[in-house]
Amino acid sequence: MNIYIDFDDCISETAKYFSKLVYEMFGKDVPYEKMDFFNLQQSFKLNDDEYEKLIIKGHEPEILLDYEETPGASKTINSWIDKGYNVFIITGRPYNSYEPSRQWLDEHGLERVKLYCMDKYGREDKIIDSEHNLKLDDFYKMKFDFAVEDSPEAFKYFKHLPETKVNVFDRPWNRTAEFPGDNFRRVFDWESLGKIIP
Ligand SMILES: [Mg+2]
Repeated sequence: MNIYIDFDDCISETAKYFSKLVYEMFGKDVPYEKMDFFNLQQSFKLNDDEYEKLIIKGHEPEILLDYEETPGASKTINSWIDKGYNVFIITGRPYNSYEPSRQWLDEHGLERVKLYCMDKYGREDKIIDSEHNLKLDDFYKMKFDFAVEDSPEAFKYFKHLPETKVNVFDRPWNRTAEFPGDNFRRVFDWESLGKIIP
């Protein structure tokens, strides 16, 4: 059994942290529940300069280490690993956030999961060869039985895998998104995921 899991807002409460950060940095009060867009610049109505500052700040190692775990994520993922399932955390975070992201996983009891950075959103200037970076070509050679993802912008990465059950983790910015196929379904928490993928 191969399982794809996204990082931010699947296993960590990243958007809630960003909502606090935007308030501290720019005095803008956009609560998590009002984050209607996956794009943070849109959700927080930031100009280019503010957005750039936010992204730099949000990827500082101490900030990345500070995100709360989504309740139950580590417990359910470890139960899958105990059963011998292959779990791949595939994040769209920039390549240079690998180390703190790895540390976060280790500190949350997820030492055994594999972590890859993949340029899901075309944010990298160039592709850097590293065992931790997953190239799109290599991703497309992989097969997954299950996936956990929150971003409607990443749905396209499962187009070639109509058999993969894609579990869309319920978040304000994906509530109006159209699911591309019957293999997509909405999930609300890790406890249910543990039952869906026993
Ligand atoms: Mg995400």
